[in-house]
This record gives sequence, C-alpha cells and structure tokens, in this order.
Amino acid sequence: MRLAERPAVRIGWPIAVGLVAIAVGYALSVGLSGYFVYLAVSAVTAAIAIMGLGIVTGSAGMIALCQLTFAAIGAWVVAALNVAEAPGGFIVWLVIGAAAAGGAGVLVGLPALRLRGVNLAVVTLGFAAAADVTLVQIQFPGSADGVAVLRPDAFSSDREYFFFSILVLAVCGVAVFFLQRGRWGSSWKAVAFSERGTAAAGQSVQTAKLTAFAVSAALGGVSGGLLAGQVGLPFASSFTPLQSLALYILAIMSGAHLIDMAIFGGVLWVLVPELLKRWGVPQDWGFVIFGVLGVQALTSGTNLGQGIRNVWWKRTDRAAAAKRSESTDAAAAASPPVDPVTTTTVATLDPAEATGAPVLVVEGLTVTFGALRALDDVSLEVPAGTIMGLIGPNGAGKSTFVDAISGFLQGHGGRVTLDGRDLSGLSPTRRARLGLRRTFQQDRVPPALTIDAYVRFVARRRLDRQDIDDALAFFGCPPAHTRLSGVDVGTRRLVEVAANMLARPRLLLLDEPAAGLSHEEHLALAARLRDVPSRFGTALIIIEHDLDLVRSVCPRLTVLDFGKVLASGLQDEVLDDPAVMKAYMGETEML
Ligand code: ADP
Ligand code: MG
Repeated sequence: MRLAERPAVRIGWPIAVGLVAIAVGYALSVGLSGYFVYLAVSAVTAAIAIMGLGIVTGSAGMIALCQLTFAAIGAWVVAALNVAEAPGGFIVWLVIGAAAAGGAGVLVGLPALRLRGVNLAVVTLGFAAAADVTLVQIQFPGSADGVAVLRPDAFSSDREYFFFSILVLAVCGVAVFFLQRGRWGSSWKAVAFSERGTAAAGQSVQTAKLTAFAVSAALGGVSGGLLAGQVGLPFASSFTPLQSLALYILAIMSGAHLIDMAIFGGVLWVLVPELLKRWGVPQDWGFVIFGVLGVQALTSGTNLGQGIRNVWWKRTDRAAAAKRSESTDAAAAASPPVDPVTTTTVATLDPAEATGAPVLVVEGLTVTFGALRALDDVSLEVPAGTIMGLIGPNGAGKSTFVDAISGFLQGHGGRVTLDGRDLSGLSPTRRARLGLRRTFQQDRVPPALTIDAYVRFVARRRLDRQDIDDALAFFGCPPAHTRLSGVDVGTRRLVEVAANMLARPRLLLLDEPAAGLSHEEHLALAARLRDVPSRFGTALIIIEHDLDLVRSVCPRLTVLDFGKVLASGLQDEVLDDPAVMKAYMGETEML
C-alpha cells in the first residue's frame, strides 16, 4: 500500500486519538487497583485479537474461527525466544511472533481462495482444533521448567505492563486505521461484496483475501505475545477453539471492523465473565450470552457499532444535505453546458478515429453453455477512441460477450487482442490492468466504501482531489465523501462508470449502464458518454436498449442475435442493413 496515493487521508487526527488513548491508558494504569489492572490487560489483548477479526470477518467478509490459534502461535514464539534468550528482548520477540502468526494466516487463508461460508468456517475451526491438540501435547516452551517470559525492562510491573499493552494497542489501532483506509482496506471491503467486481477493478482477489488473513493473524499473534508477557507462563487452555468461537461472535456482534468497537468488544470479553463471577453464576454462561447476542447480530444484519453509526450518520447527513444541495447547485451552474441528447442528434465519426489501429480485435469468439451457443463465431474490431454500440434482444449474448472479452469466461473459442496483444489465458485482473475495463449489468459496487475510496480503488493510479471531483461532476455523481451505502443503485452505476473512466483504460465495456436511471438521468449520461473518447482517450462499447440513444451516441454499431453478429460497422450501414431491418425494426424491445 502506498500512502502517498491517498492525500485525502488526514494523518493528524488518528494519531491524535492514539495519543489520547495512551494518556487515558496511563491514567488508568496509575489509578486502577491491582486486580483490575490484570483484567484491563486481558481486555487489551482481547481487543487486539478482535481488531484482527474485524479485518478478516468484518471487512473482508470471510469466516475465520481460529483467531486464538494465531494468538497461540504469537505466544509460543515469544515463549520460545524467551527460553532461548534470543537477542532484542520482548518487543522484538513480539514482532517476530506477529510475523510468524501472519505467515500462518496466509497458510490458513489459502483454502479461503476456494472455500466460502460454512466450508471455510469448518476448515478454520478444524485448524483451531488440530492446533489445540498439538499445543496440549507439546506445551509452551518453558512451561515445564517454569521459565517465565521476561517483560520489557521499562514495563516489568503489572501497572507498567498494562501501560505497555495500551501502547501496543494504540500502535495497532493507528496501523489498522490506515490500512483500512488504504488500498488493502478497500480491496477487503470490495472482495466481501463481489469477487467479480474486485477482479474487474484490476485487484487480485487472492491478494485481497490473503492480506486480510495475514494482517488479521498478525494481530492475533500480537495479542498472544502480549498475553505471554502478562501471564509469564502461557497455557493451551487460554487458546481453545471454543474461545476462538466466542471471540468471533463477539467480533460480529460489536462490529469489530470499527476500531472503537473492537476495543469495546475487548472490554465485554472480560466484563461479562467478571460480572457473572460476582453474581455467582458459572462463567461458562458467558459463552451462552455471547452466543445469543451473536445470533441477534447475525439475524438482524446489523451489529452494535454499525447501529450506533447509522444513527449518527443520519443526523450528520441531514445537516450536510442542505449544505450539499447549495454547493451542487453552484457546481452545476459552473460546469460547462452539455448538448442535450435528442432523437434528432446523430453520432458522427471523429475523422481522426478512423485512421488509428484497432484497440480491440475479436476473431471467431465462440462460447457454449452446454448445448447452447451463447456466442457463435463473433468477429469484430473496435477502433481506438471510438464508441461502439452493442445491441440485440435479451439473451442475444451481449453480457456473455463482455464476460468473455474481460476474462470472466475462460475456455472460449477464438482470439481476443487488445492493442495487438493476445489476451488468451489472462485473468480478468490482468486484463483490467492492461487497460481493458468493464462494468456490470448487476450492482457490483461495494457499499462499504465511500465514493472517494471506491474511485481511488478502481482507478489504480495517483489522483488528486480535482481529478476526482471533476470526473464525478462530469457524470453527475454525488460528492466524493458520500458513502456508497447511502445512494441508490442507479447512482452507484454512475459512480462505477466515473471510477472506471478515471482508470483511463484503453477500452471500457459498459453493460447497460443506464439500468436504474430515470429518463432524464439516462439522457444526461448518454450525453456525457458521447464526450468520453475526446475527454478521457478511451474507446467504449456500450450495451444499450434505447435505439434513439444508441443512434445519438454510437458512431459504430454491432448487432447480435442468437449469439451471431448480424451486422457490424458504421451506424448508417448497420441500420440500413436489410438483415437488421428485417430482424429488428419495429421490434418493441429495441425501441
Ligand atoms: P444478453 O446480455 O444479450 O441479454 P446473455 O449474454 O446474458 O444475453 O445471455 C446469452 C444466452 O446465454 C442466454 O440464453 C442465457 O440464458 C445464456 N447464458 C448466459 N450465461 C449463462 C450461464 N452462465 N450458463 C448458462 N447459460 C447462460
Ligand atoms: Mg445482458
């Protein structure tokens, strides 16, 4: 992740929050009595582990039920280095333990590349169970001989160690904050919503998942290492699969992708058993309570943190709405006028365009689904910087064409080249990076991101504020700070187009970009798309049902019918083609 790509992140205040947390931690470490200091360290270690779960589960949407196994790895490494009297002392051992746990996280994440949902849950729980059995047998280094883990010199008393744990928590919290707002964080939230959408943005799905597992597990490792320093002699009973399960539920329930909520979860982790103990109830009932709260969170679809934020956002949104409408009015007044698309406008060819080499060449593209030939020997060329309309009735094979070109359907017949380069066998991610982008007929825009984060994620290049604001205004999108969860699906499609344009691809395939837009918005989008080649230097293939709009926007047309190219070429020629006239003119679906 390159922080430099994200000038929008204000570096100051998260660090200020971290410093305040450290100050509060210091006050607590002086003020709390001995027993509570011990509990407080436990809450901090739990908070760090839950923060990790917030990444893999909360952000990236994968089920990982072995967080305390990663903690055990961290603890085991710290204990082993302690016994070996390795140089560097506790802090270095803690970092090494985190790295080891992170490595284990990648290994456990590998099945996640193929498995989802319950299957992934079973695999991770199985890993936790196997690790538990192993740990009970081999024990932690030093435990048999009573060689306790040496804390850092400056933090050897319990109070000092608590303050040390607060320092570690603050460092982890600030690091997670920046990771969540950086490219990795966006990729985690994107992959949770749609793997296809993630790949189409040029982001490797594998990398997104594995980085989530690695960072999450590394935080687990830090948590375990801290626990080793707290107790001196760690035991397997602190890291059982059942506790991992409870921790997972706590993370779901509190909304642990939010850092403050992870800390809240850590407090609950020690508070609930402690209260039960005081009330004379067996502590195992804590698991039942967590379980019930977790079921509640899963069935209602919102967690505590999200619930609190939704209330807060509604309030601030209302306040901002008035202000925003003023500013967008002003922006609309300032933006250059656009020729409205009317049925009388006819798209004409840019003279420069006809001379260039084709950006896309498709030869003999054939796709079969069982007995169905969805595409049958499709050949066409798209000159650089032009707009080609792809039309044909529902089921003609238009979306299949986009899928095959963009790499989502492998194993088809025929050849596709982009700027003369054969794309055979290249993944969707690779093709997107080479400058072949596509949008989807269904909504694949991750709602967990702001428009700003999404645009930067999709564009994959350095953008300044002005670039983004201009492109958003150009396509009639809401301002960059808007959360995507708060806008309708039609607007999300517009943002998808704007973000892909900012990637400055060679070719962008738009699969019914106007679905979900009102008639006026539809016309406005069409007018904007007409200016895309000259403004962004991108060629477009647009799938669109409204023939009047197609006529006014697309100088070139290709007509598909039952997977075959009926006609392809300049608009006039195609529309005058007898086969097209016969098949389409008067057909209600087209008009
Ligand atoms: P269009 O986008 O032009 O409406 P599609 O490309 O979505 O059409 O579909 C073309 C044909 O291929 C349709 O008959 C559709 O039912 C079929 N088809 C599309 N995807 C699949 C798939 N994954 N498996 C089987 N059939 C499919
Ligand atoms: Mg379609």
